[in-house]
Amino acid sequence: MASEDADTTRTDQLTFQNPVTRYPEVTPPEQEQPEPGLQADMTPQPDIGEHSYRGTGRLVGRKALVTGGDSGIGAAVAVAFAREGADVAINYLPDEEEDAQHVARIITDSGRTAVLIPGDLTEATVCSDIVERTVSELGGLDILVNNAAKQVANESLEETPDEQIVETFEANILAMFRVTKAALRHLQPGSTIINTTSVVAYQPPPPLIDYASTKAAINTFSKGLAQELAPKGIRVNAVAPGPIWTPLQPSHGQPTEDLPEFGKSTPLGRAGQPTELAPAYVFLASAESSYVIGETLAVTGGMPTP
Ligand code: NAD
Ligand code: MG
Repeated sequence: MASEDADTTRTDQLTFQNPVTRYPEVTPPEQEQPEPGLQADMTPQPDIGEHSYRGTGRLVGRKALVTGGDSGIGAAVAVAFAREGADVAINYLPDEEEDAQHVARIITDSGRTAVLIPGDLTEATVCSDIVERTVSELGGLDILVNNAAKQVANESLEETPDEQIVETFEANILAMFRVTKAALRHLQPGSTIINTTSVVAYQPPPPLIDYASTKAAINTFSKGLAQELAPKGIRVNAVAPGPIWTPLQPSHGQPTEDLPEFGKSTPLGRAGQPTELAPAYVFLASAESSYVIGETLAVTGGMPTP
């Protein structure tokens, strides 16, 4: 997060504070990066909780796999899981090694094991490989977070290339089926699956209809699978973020000229920071949410969801 407000951002998530002013309004300068975008190159820097997230032992000894765990929301979740006592494997695209190394350092500095698994989830074999590597290097798998996604804004459906539509569906929803399918035989009763959906599943912006359609599919996938797995003691839930300042946005996730206003139309009046998502994932991953199944937890700065 921006260095000018280091004191505010170092307030941990358990301190009584005003959500309106917990973070300053982000007014990002117009900026553009090629996909998938590097967090290290963003202005201002998103807050993934490195200096603020305080664990309370809620995931001690668990073994987690977080896709898209190198940056943004996935990175904040990986940091929080480690602070709560879990060992964490993260998957990401090979071009994101710099961000992944940064997250790995935070995990190991928190006293936990980090496993780095680069690989493109649009390839079906990678989806099962990342699960097998997690199990062999961490000695098991108890928490699966399907969080990776591709988001590219277009002027219109006619200008949305077919290749982009296919890749968006492959990365966001087909990979979720494949990774989850590969994980099932390793999950014991008590294990949890958490899928990242989005507020756009309910309010699809026209420039993002391919992406928004995958997010609606993720909600349906989560609610359906939750019913199948509940009798086995495996819980499936989802988290629907609102506008969060992450690399997805300046790497063609939004029209560049819209970036300075990003998140300002929420009732809270500001974009969210990735670390503000982490407690929702910790709650759904931990045993304290034992009766919460097939839920989509909205973390939207007040944007209404059904
Ligand atoms: P992010 O760019 O930090 O994370 C997305 C990650 O997806 C990337 O880091 C990358 O590692 C991974 N990814 C993309 N394509 C991949 C592929 N083919 N193979 C492997 N990994 C791939 O951005 P984020 O905003 O933190 O995104 C995390 C999740 O949050 C996504 O599911 C996104 O849809 C969701 N989300 C974000 C927002 C927001 O405003 N930022 C809002 C709603 C939902
Ligand atoms: Mg990334």
